[in-house]
Amino acid sequence: MNHRRPIHPSSFIFHPLLLAILLAGCAKPTAHPNVLLITLDTFRADRVTARTPNLLKLAESGIDYTQADAAAPLTLPSHATILSGLLPLHHGIRNNGVGPFPKERPTLATVFAGAGYRTGAFVSSFVLDHRFGLNRGFETYDDDIARDPNNPNATLDAQRRGGETVDRALAWLRRSDPRPWFAWVHLYDAHTPYAPPPPYAQTYDGAVQYVDDQVGRLLGAIDRATTIVVVVGDHGESLGEHGELTHGLLLYESTLHVPLIVAGGERRSESAPISTAAVAPMIAHLAGLTMSGDDRIYAETDYPKSFGWSGLTSLRDGNRKVIRGTRAETFELPNESKPVETDRRLLAQLQQIEATAIAAGPSSVDEETRSKLASLGYIAPRNAKPSNEDARDMAPLFRRYQDAQAVNAIPQLQELVREDPSNPVFLSTLARAYRQAGALDRALPLYREAVTLSPADADAWYNLASALSDAGKAGEAKDVAAEAARLAPDRPEIHNVLGIALVGSGDVSAALSEFQKALVLDPRNARSYNNIGNIYRISGKLDAAEAAYRKALEIAPNYADALNGLGVIAVQRGDTKAAIDDFNAALKIAPSFYEARLNRAIAMRVGGDRKGASDELQQLLRDLPPGPAYDSQRTAARALLSR
Ligand SMILES: [Zn+2]
Repeated sequence: MNHRRPIHPSSFIFHPLLLAILLAGCAKPTAHPNVLLITLDTFRADRVTARTPNLLKLAESGIDYTQADAAAPLTLPSHATILSGLLPLHHGIRNNGVGPFPKERPTLATVFAGAGYRTGAFVSSFVLDHRFGLNRGFETYDDDIARDPNNPNATLDAQRRGGETVDRALAWLRRSDPRPWFAWVHLYDAHTPYAPPPPYAQTYDGAVQYVDDQVGRLLGAIDRATTIVVVVGDHGESLGEHGELTHGLLLYESTLHVPLIVAGGERRSESAPISTAAVAPMIAHLAGLTMSGDDRIYAETDYPKSFGWSGLTSLRDGNRKVIRGTRAETFELPNESKPVETDRRLLAQLQQIEATAIAAGPSSVDEETRSKLASLGYIAPRNAKPSNEDARDMAPLFRRYQDAQAVNAIPQLQELVREDPSNPVFLSTLARAYRQAGALDRALPLYREAVTLSPADADAWYNLASALSDAGKAGEAKDVAAEAARLAPDRPEIHNVLGIALVGSGDVSAALSEFQKALVLDPRNARSYNNIGNIYRISGKLDAAEAAYRKALEIAPNYADALNGLGVIAVQRGDTKAAIDDFNAALKIAPSFYEARLNRAIAMRVGGDRKGASDELQQLLRDLPPGPAYDSQRTAARALLSR
């Protein structure tokens, strides 16, 4: 879902009076104070307690906004709002994985950079990668987060511990520079999986304590007298409330209510509700600069739309809150379990705000995509329309989906597809489970169906292309990957999968150009280097191939494919001992990497160990899963044994 529509100027109703009230008593703008903005991912407001002493102490030393609400329960849209003061429907980043942030809109980074500040950002999740555009204005944007190249589908899950992010921020803060600084540090550890380092408990609260200790390290390293510190959550975590385990699907306070602390001036507790869209102008004001923001406590989530369900919006006024999907419910906070009579005035205001969105919600299917579907013979099932069910009604199904997808539980996923047949995410998750079980023949029809259900979704095309390549259907894979690349030309992984399909179709030079495009878009993509290595190896350019594999391993030391590539080169050079070491290293990382086992057997055979090779090949034939995915290895192993 990449919306690249022109940005139209939208009208913002920003009430300077309210901001003036909120800011009253804040420190008088001093000339160029340093500013440290810490964003706490997935952090519930009620977790600032005695068990998080650093945050608690900070809250007591500044203004503690006890009724702050995020503008979206999703990391990228919410951070885009915190940094810009724009609501998601005005900056246009309405889901994770989309972007980039509009180039003409100011953010805290561009405003501070313009005022002569040194600016640095240190983020902990790939979700905030520079490709999504929040890097603009930052001299340093440290998003150097290792991704697992062995699992290309895990890219959005890539993250690093807060400790590492803080280390890097501290190194940057220690640099000698006469300018004042603006630093943004993002701590992601409270996000699932709750896996802080020992001795912290492997729970949400254990992760929260770890995050608090990282905040403590940051605060201990700066001169508080000359620094304004702002801490804000990007969204909360539902922890089972309203039937939601994590965040993103619903708009209750369990995921919207976040900590907001502004330390550097007056001390007080502020209980007037405030949106995180007011944070950017507030910070700018404290530094004597100006930014506009939005004081309406609006929130939205488009995430349910990926499932074919309705998105949700909400608006809060005091303790009144309306949540709107296919129906509207009004709540009198803090009670969100039982709606009160509909507040027509608030509902009308909410609909007015919705009407100012800069981009249409659901993406439409253009003519080229339609003709591509037809030329490939993909026919949508009869009930191919999104169900548009209200996300609140689908929460139980979503929860079952989360459980089933975490462990690739095929029967449970089949059940979900039966219950919600026009849900493209359920279909592609079931397809992925089949694929991982080696049942490509069952996965492919489902991936094709997912494409017909959401033809404007580049991911659906990408997944299908990747599975088609695995199945050896290079021609179809090439067409499908080309459509994914047309829909989302800036996605490096799509150029990688298109390149692989081109290799399969025998067009090596076109493939090389796709891999190079991927590398331009993402210079730290280990998979691109590995693919380039494969191309050079096929072309007999062994030195260039080795250099590319080594580059991939420099970025991702535990990359089984690249080790396998090095092993193949070593065999070609006649160094079977080095080759066997490389294959062993690959297999230590990925024990069921059958191609590496086959290659190891070949190396043994070339090195004169006929018996070892033959044992290995026979064992491999016993271990290879059935199905077309491993036919080429099966055929090769049999051919070698018969010689
Ligand atoms: Zn988040």
